[in-house]
Amino acid sequence: MKQADIDALRGKSIAPQGLFIDGNWTQPLNGGRLDVLSPIDGKVLTTIADAGAEDVDRAVRAARIAFERGSWSRMAPAGRKKVLLKLADLIEAHALELAVLGVRDNGTEISMAYKAEPLSAAGTFRYYAEAIDKIYGEIAPTQADVLGLIHREPLGVVAAIVPWNFPMMIGAWKVAPALAAGNSVVLKPAEVASLTLLRLGELAAEAGLPEGVFNVVTGRGGVTGEALGLHMDVDAIAFTGSGGVGRRLLEYSARSNLKRVHLELGGKSPNIVFADAPDLDQAAKVSAFGIFRNSGQVCVAGSRLLVQASVYDRFMERLVAVTRGMRVGDPLDLASDAGAVSSAEQLAKNLGHVTAAEEDGARLLTGGNRLKEETGGYYMAPTIFDEVTPAMRLAREEVFGPVLAVSRFEDEAEAVRLANATVYGLASAVWTTNLATAHRMVRAVRAGVVHVNTYGGADITVPLGGFGQSGFGRDKSLHAFDKYTDLKTAWISLG
Ligand code: NAD
Repeated sequence: MKQADIDALRGKSIAPQGLFIDGNWTQPLNGGRLDVLSPIDGKVLTTIADAGAEDVDRAVRAARIAFERGSWSRMAPAGRKKVLLKLADLIEAHALELAVLGVRDNGTEISMAYKAEPLSAAGTFRYYAEAIDKIYGEIAPTQADVLGLIHREPLGVVAAIVPWNFPMMIGAWKVAPALAAGNSVVLKPAEVASLTLLRLGELAAEAGLPEGVFNVVTGRGGVTGEALGLHMDVDAIAFTGSGGVGRRLLEYSARSNLKRVHLELGGKSPNIVFADAPDLDQAAKVSAFGIFRNSGQVCVAGSRLLVQASVYDRFMERLVAVTRGMRVGDPLDLASDAGAVSSAEQLAKNLGHVTAAEEDGARLLTGGNRLKEETGGYYMAPTIFDEVTPAMRLAREEVFGPVLAVSRFEDEAEAVRLANATVYGLASAVWTTNLATAHRMVRAVRAGVVHVNTYGGADITVPLGGFGQSGFGRDKSLHAFDKYTDLKTAWISLG
């Protein structure tokens, strides 16, 4: 990736966007539009359609008709594989264009977005495409005069509702296994980051997905998203986002057709540094990047740092130095370590958490302020508070911004107690050279992932999801198929 190639794309005009329904671009029936502001400079990039309930209904109907038609749902797995592999190739061929488009939309630094968005999405489509002609049904160990077969069938119409932080990556985690299993999909991106997923609709059609199998509807959560949540003909919703909206989706399901709801929610993940960490300097660097990349807008971000008292001062000195050295700025500049906060609302929310932390008595070590206001963009300094106690709001509430809460602990028991003093349970890390400590901590920390001597590494082969109020259901790995398929028993008498 070269800076000149990025710069050639950064000013490209973006036409007003439609809805992608039944293989075609269409406009919302109510004519509604939403401005798309770029977090780089706060200027209007383009507009997206603000779909109403009647547009959602059109998309769900198209998805249902396509499912019943069977041109995708009953296509041989090897045929679906071919189309999804082509889609992966197309995403990869357009990777830079997609990455720049996404960065202009949500502000993630391009050095991260390029790999984490189009390239990761292409890899995800490839993984599930390759899996579908290698998964078998089961024969149950029944009595001799019976044949018990267990079939795995697609659900029908799956709705995916995704957030703005990594729209392509998270969108692919849901859309790829749902499509691979033979479902039809209606995808609703977040209002502040819809552009790359609209483009995905177009690329899916180019790859050969039959009309109606994959639809993208944009609009406000409380309108477009709610209509999907309440729709009587949606079989399942796969959601990533906040706990508040997750709760609503459960209510919508109860009030409508009891559709399955899979929730991937927020976190307040502990990053635990023991005195015997293999390399404290490296741990400090990885810990800083583990919270401040993408301006802290990472669901698994290590937002609570717990450091053993005997190395506390040395570690914190290094951490603050690394943090102050991070370059926050133009997300389309390859040299930026962190780009812009996604929206003015999120920036205001982040700064509100800074005020709350100060009121609660935490000590500000660095940051806490907006940066580069003159650009019109939404930039924030990486911020560290220490002397954070479990009762403080900064220890309990997810910021989803570049704000780190630090506490010290004396021994392993205290580390476990502090780590688990949260309603969340998404991610965590433990830094130690003691194998027994590492294994004990993996068992003791309540979280969907425990990293050891690193922070944030993962790939598509391992599941991601939360304990507690971080949600349930798992994205990624072959386990994701459980969310998008039903088991059917055939009980065949041989007598
Ligand atoms: P959000 O919950 O505000 O929005 C997520 C999506 O839900 C958007 O598409 C939005 O339009 C839609 N929505 C909003 N209101 C709705 C409603 N009433 N009915 C239906 N849909 C509605 O979340 P966000 O601000 O976009 O994303 C940030 C949150 O996502 C954070 O809490 C973060 O931790 C979480 N997240 C979790 C993971 C994970 O894998 N667990 C990954 C990324 C982000």
